[in-house]
Amino acid sequence: MEVGVLAIQGDFAEHIATLERLGVEAREIRLPHQLETIEGLIIPGGESTTLSRLMTLYDLRDPIAAMAAQGKALWGTCAGMIMMAQEITEEDPVPLGIMDIGVHRNAYGRQVDSFELDLPITGFAGPDSSQVPFHCVFIRAPMINRLGDGVNVLASLPDGEPVAVQQGKVMATSFHPELTNDTRFHAHFLDLVPVAAE
Ligand code: GLN
Repeated sequence: MEVGVLAIQGDFAEHIATLERLGVEAREIRLPHQLETIEGLIIPGGESTTLSRLMTLYDLRDPIAAMAAQGKALWGTCAGMIMMAQEITEEDPVPLGIMDIGVHRNAYGRQVDSFELDLPITGFAGPDSSQVPFHCVFIRAPMINRLGDGVNVLASLPDGEPVAVQQGKVMATSFHPELTNDTRFHAHFLDLVPVAAE
């Protein structure tokens, strides 16, 4: 199974290490042609305005959007979620418009810009995940302020705010599963990756 992690900015190394623990050797993706041979791509957390500028500079926008149109698996974490959105409240960055969600950057305020919470997750394979909550690390996290009809919520904050969403084979989380030892989100992502035709 060929999967990649966008490696132009942010915490791509942590995603690669987590995938490695699941026995998958992910590729570091920096150039458009490297996208051609992968069936799934993770866009990591980091700083979305920088991520956005570098995506434009390296001509990565259209080929990443094309992957979604081709039914490949995509997952954006935190800044990566901002890039997945259809629209964001701010003018910068320009998102990729891959998921039918609206996002507000840095929406949890300065004082509480980082927090950690154990949340139940729906939709994982295996034993009932709500019995084993996921430790969610939020770092200057974006907030989902609009959910399209075809978007499923995998996890919400206690006040009902969605923080993990999926639309077909495309997923976004406002927190960082790659910063924990829990591999269940990455395993869920790998389940979405289509097996390449021989
Ligand atoms: N606050 C960052 C942004 O707006 C995202 C933070 C993160 O990825 N941890 O791009």
